[in-house]
Amino acid sequence: MVISSHYRLVNAHIPLCLLPSLRLSSQQITNITKEGLICCDLEIKAGKIIGIYPSESAPTDNLLRWDLKKGIVLPCFVDMHTHLDKGHIWERTPNPDGTFNSALIAVGSDRSNNYSNSSYEDIYRRMEFGLKCSYAQGTKAIRTHIDCPSTQFDLSLQVFADLQKEWRDRLTLQAVSLVTLEDYDGARGEILADRIADLGGILGGVPYANPHLEAQLDRLFNLASDRHLDLDLHTDENDDPNSHALKATSEAALRHNFKGKIVCDHCCSLAVQSESEIKETLALVKSAKIGIVSLPMCNLYLQDRQSMRTPRWRGVTLVHELKQAGIPVAIASDNVRDPFFAFGNHDGLEVFSTAVRIAHLDTPYSDWIKVITTTPSELMGLESNFLVAGASADLVIFNARYFSELLSRPQSDRYVIRNGIAIDTTLPDYAELD
Ligand SMILES: [Zn+2]
Repeated sequence: MVISSHYRLVNAHIPLCLLPSLRLSSQQITNITKEGLICCDLEIKAGKIIGIYPSESAPTDNLLRWDLKKGIVLPCFVDMHTHLDKGHIWERTPNPDGTFNSALIAVGSDRSNNYSNSSYEDIYRRMEFGLKCSYAQGTKAIRTHIDCPSTQFDLSLQVFADLQKEWRDRLTLQAVSLVTLEDYDGARGEILADRIADLGGILGGVPYANPHLEAQLDRLFNLASDRHLDLDLHTDENDDPNSHALKATSEAALRHNFKGKIVCDHCCSLAVQSESEIKETLALVKSAKIGIVSLPMCNLYLQDRQSMRTPRWRGVTLVHELKQAGIPVAIASDNVRDPFFAFGNHDGLEVFSTAVRIAHLDTPYSDWIKVITTTPSELMGLESNFLVAGASADLVIFNARYFSELLSRPQSDRYVIRNGIAIDTTLPDYAELD
């Protein structure tokens, strides 16, 4: 455990794709493993990385050294799609049959049964539980969607604002309003967009296929443009080949010449559309500069679920095809222990590990590790999360030396370094939620 403010991490296995400024000799290039890992030393001083060197040519001096023996080092995780406000309600409001429709109904009844003007403490405690889990396991930034029906958004956004302030030295937090697009009609839409702007948040929602979708998207883009807000939309979270919200959002972005960042999440139906439709949509997404966030754990749970029938597809969008088209792709955890997903632990490693299995992000691992580290950081507009000299020393250190070791155990003994200092990685007790 590190206690010095100036030290070296030596013999760290780091994915080369996370080291954009590392220069290697032709001899050192031969030392890159078949999984793209390179053995490096990092010099840490006063909370920052001040030097990164291939281990063979690293300076040797009397500085304190922590020999990682080829343990993998990653930048801290960035979890850019969560629902902290709904998290951990499973025990009081489970999903009776695991379907998407039952999840919607269950969340609606949880709202009627449990939300009142005195719900501040309940929302705060569950949201903070999520933050504690995330922080202890090595996440440094989180974007959370927040259910914003008119009866609830004042209170939930107030809890978010308070936690954002309280945790600002540990976690960067962003909020996205989650409503149907009709909710942006009229004065109510202005009020919600103003509230999100006050919070420095992102305008969000769920564009459903309907005859008014184009007009609804125009309204949303106008509200966002007027306030210089970014957009983050739940699109096509279904297996209906006629669900084209991603395409409609791309067309709206181009129609509006929208200047902010846009992220579309889920995009499951893309995977069940024809090759010609896929090609057309990917071209539009690319020219609209939209980033895609896949939520593999939640998609696997909800998609293709019917009683007494074995699921036939994994529910995820076309992450390989999107990446090959040059479209930024991130993955994130989504719901945790609520009617949309019965499990989860706010762990970036579990999300990546599950995504590797579901979407075949191995053979080769290539630069897929960026989907939970550097790419979401870029899509959220944060400071670079690559490992370069000058970056904050925000690192997750594993005993595992290779991806196969990393992804085969939960790595509960990992170290998390924030601003150069090892933090307490103890997870909160579930009894805190009682
Ligand atoms: Zn979501």
